[in-house]
Amino acid sequence: MFNVQDIRNDFPILSRKVNGKPLVYFDNAATSQTPQQVIDAIVDYYSNYNANIHRGVHTLSQEATDLYEQARKKIQAHFNAKFSHEIVLTSGTTHSINLVANGFSSILKKGDEIIVSALEHHSNIVPWQMLCEQTGAVLKVIPMNEDGALIMDDYDNLLSKNTKLVFVNHISNALGTINPIEYIIEKAHQVGAAVLIDGAQACPHIKPDVQALDVDFYVASAHKMCGPTGVGMLYGKEEWLNKLPPYQGGGEMIAEVTFEKTTYADLPHKFEAGTPNIAGGIVFGAAIDYMNSIGFDVIATYENDLLDYATEKLLQIEGLKIYGTSKSKTSVISFNLENIHPYDIGTILDKLGIAVRTGHHCAQPIMDFYCIPGTVRASFSFYNTKEEIDALVEGVKKAKMMLS
Ligand SMILES: *Cc1c(COP(=O)(O)O)cnc(C)c1O
Repeated sequence: MFNVQDIRNDFPILSRKVNGKPLVYFDNAATSQTPQQVIDAIVDYYSNYNANIHRGVHTLSQEATDLYEQARKKIQAHFNAKFSHEIVLTSGTTHSINLVANGFSSILKKGDEIIVSALEHHSNIVPWQMLCEQTGAVLKVIPMNEDGALIMDDYDNLLSKNTKLVFVNHISNALGTINPIEYIIEKAHQVGAAVLIDGAQACPHIKPDVQALDVDFYVASAHKMCGPTGVGMLYGKEEWLNKLPPYQGGGEMIAEVTFEKTTYADLPHKFEAGTPNIAGGIVFGAAIDYMNSIGFDVIATYENDLLDYATEKLLQIEGLKIYGTSKSKTSVISFNLENIHPYDIGTILDKLGIAVRTGHHCAQPIMDFYCIPGTVRASFSFYNTKEEIDALVEGVKKAKMMLS
């Protein structure tokens, strides 16, 4: 186990006050906070290496290129991809998903089927709807149960030889449910479908092994795992990335250009048009180093303990209901108080310095399922403490008193 106070000292923002109270940051599922090691890496890049990459013969450009490509190798090692060119650096999960969706628009035909899950983030629903409109493919949805878990029997029945792509998040950002992706991938492959897993919410808690999973595509954002905003990754199996057409045209992604014809660069550059977020990519590597220096086993054990503690304490408040009660879940608690709008609770908690998210969490279909406008979501990270959870529980009690 680690000393959480030592960890907290790595995060300058955790010592600031909000509305005169010590900040309690429980909005980790929206974005994580940034440790000094990562902030230093940003400063180091702009202080010492700033240059455009893959172009210059000059020293700075070569050094920046080396750092960027080293970061790609770090990401490759972290996700256990077979080749570093299977890692495409993007602006984030949303960009990665759109890149794949765009690629499939040239592969899918009328009558083909795409399966998504009822637990998806809007960024995972809308691109597929757009793709279906373009291609005449049909969108099917794996339903969920009251606990917020996907119903695997229904998934089995949705699969057929028409299924071309299955798209599911690894962990639901709205409820914290950990989905049985091993099963989902294996079953999809039995009918010849490709699988894209959205790991945006999983990667802060779990270290996925893309080869062991045998997944075709896996995507994540750096800003949910202690890195900067505006950078993320797409892992794609080499054969799939070769099959998909480029997403954007521009510099960096070409081999040769004439007005008659352009040939594309090799992987991964085919998908990296234009000047990328160079500092972001390099610092994504630093964020991965930071999280690995703590260790994902240690992180998971600690966060599960926080989850159990918070669940027990919150459920002692009469009229409080937790949404997402699957046994397999991570440190996210979505809840409501009877007859009180989540927004009002969030506002009172903010006055007490406690940052939670309220609303539909970009997952309106889940809210529709429960017939609620939204929830209050408290999401915990390894730098949170039980004392902070006590403050949340007191805050919720206070909100209940003031609002009912
Ligand atoms: C945050 C999140 C996204 C979107 O990530 P961006 O970084 O905004 O592109 C997609 N899916 C899930 C499950 C998420 O938690």
